[in-house]
Amino acid sequence: MAMSEISSDEQESSEKITVRSLSKAYESTQALEDVSFSVAEGEFCCVVGPSGCGKTTLLRAIAGLDDPDSGSVLVGGEPVTDPGLDRGMVFQEYALFPWRTVRGNIRFGLDRPACECADCEARVRELIDLVGLDGFEDAYPKELSGGMKQRVGIARALAVDPEILLMDEPFGSVDARTRDRLHAELLDIWTQTGQTVVFVTHDIDEAVTLSDRVVIMDSDPGTVRTTVSIDLERPRERTDHDFVDYVARIRNELGTPDSLSRLY
Ligand code: ADP
Repeated sequence: MAMSEISSDEQESSEKITVRSLSKAYESTQALEDVSFSVAEGEFCCVVGPSGCGKTTLLRAIAGLDDPDSGSVLVGGEPVTDPGLDRGMVFQEYALFPWRTVRGNIRFGLDRPACECADCEARVRELIDLVGLDGFEDAYPKELSGGMKQRVGIARALAVDPEILLMDEPFGSVDARTRDRLHAELLDIWTQTGQTVVFVTHDIDEAVTLSDRVVIMDSDPGTVRTTVSIDLERPRERTDHDFVDYVARIRNELGTPDSLSRLY
């Protein structure tokens, strides 16, 4: 069937997340103005834009952590009103409990964190394996590197096997080599779980490395400028000609000089 023959009902049925005319102001700041886009089931979608363009505000609205002033977010066709177990969130600053071990932090992501039944124990064990933290089960956050802390954050978000993973600049505080490793690990996890991912970043290389589609935002007020589909096989190579072309195209949309593309 030709694209033009697909009805809007059929198109909507493949949408996992629908953001409709979302607006939100903080006092005199219009953080989001009439933001609309959708994310297909199983899609890896990155949101890029300058600092202050409303990326975190948008992610928090999808998570159900903050209410918009107007507009709506639909997940699987249902309006989001609160946080839910269908959406796991990974924060930039880890947000781990310092007094809990790796196991204790991951356990906290379960819907029954205090439960020590064999199933819950097995799930925590499985998550520790999945994010490669074997041997560190009893370590406390202060004993872990930034990359390891973020693995705990990811495991905790995955604990209840959410359909959607929301990630707010999760690798912004780790060094470049660790970030490369975490990218590969995250893509492995995504391939295994088939989750729908919305990943906020200001790093254009990171967006092209990871995503199926990049939503590009403008600031003041926060709006969607355009979206770019990344039609490249994975794993992707940063020196590949097409990769460089995508980075240049997105940078051009953002109006970012070369030297600032990682700092924007
Ligand atoms: P980004 O994640 O793209 O950096 P944010 O969503 O954090 O952008 O913020 C968008 C705008 O809203 C910024 O101008 C920011 O200063 C403002 N803002 C965000 N949260 C608050 C808040 N709780 N109170 C007042 N202003 C806020």
